[in-house]
Amino acid sequence: MDRLSHPQQTIQVLQEHRFVFQKKYGQNFLIDPHVLDKIIAAAGIESGDTVLEIGPGIGTMTQALAETAGHVVAVEIDRNLIPILQETLAGYSNVTILNEDILKLDVNRLVREYNGGKPIKVAANLPYYITTPIILGLFEQEVPLDNMTVMVQKEVADRMQAAPGSKDYGALSLAVQYYAEPYLAANVPPNCFLPRPKVGSAVVRLTRYQEPPVPAEHPAFLFRIIRAAFNQRRKTLQNALWNAAELTIPKERTAEALRRMRLSETVRGEALSLEQFARLSDLLFL
Ligand code: SAM
Repeated sequence: MDRLSHPQQTIQVLQEHRFVFQKKYGQNFLIDPHVLDKIIAAAGIESGDTVLEIGPGIGTMTQALAETAGHVVAVEIDRNLIPILQETLAGYSNVTILNEDILKLDVNRLVREYNGGKPIKVAANLPYYITTPIILGLFEQEVPLDNMTVMVQKEVADRMQAAPGSKDYGALSLAVQYYAEPYLAANVPPNCFLPRPKVGSAVVRLTRYQEPPVPAEHPAFLFRIIRAAFNQRRKTLQNALWNAAELTIPKERTAEALRRMRLSETVRGEALSLEQFARLSDLLFL
């Protein structure tokens, strides 16, 4: 089977199987070999690696991964794609195809089963409707992984990398930067996909930290504070925390913590760094 990343090859496979795109699954298949090469290079895939691919589609990236990695486990929700994958990946003995929903899968069990619990790499052209739950889910479940190299909406890539004070800075920036170092590997225009998405895309590599870059005694509480701060980002931090349904922190306690941190009472969450949020959450934790 020829490499699928060439548009004619993809169209031929889709026509042969009378494949109907399912919008609800965020199906935009990659049809540009150069982008594929950039993803493989950014992920730093080597022959000893076990790679988890989320949403292989018709197997375009899976083929390239299988040629470079030791083993590829590809998890695809759409059962109509399974017979296609079995055909396009027939020549590769190092690929396992699973017809599962990635959000319902016990990925830690998968890592134990296919890589003896050692860190894997994750590569994906993600379904955009569930980008955040997939990425944060893998981090929060502490799945052993070296890096995740993923195609996401450009706007989401910008938020992942944003620094305090910028308009893109928010809960996603802080959550991602707590777990990983983001690196923008490529910008990808809509014409690299079939069908074309309405938005621009980008490849981001998230290299997992061994230890979080800032100490936080209660990470779950830290993330509640962060979510509350950005749920009402126009409000002062003090008011946003006071109004948050999931927290019960008297205003005076926040005021005292801000004083100790030498921050103004009128400061907004968007001005605080990850380190400052970690310190604040330690001061506010009861
Ligand atoms: N990797 C292919 C490519 O680059 O051409 C397809 C990428 S497409 C953007 C996203 C893929 O994720 C689709 O094949 C879609 O069916 C699959 N998908 C959507 N939701 C999923 C889920 N919850 N679990 C696993 N796969 C999912």
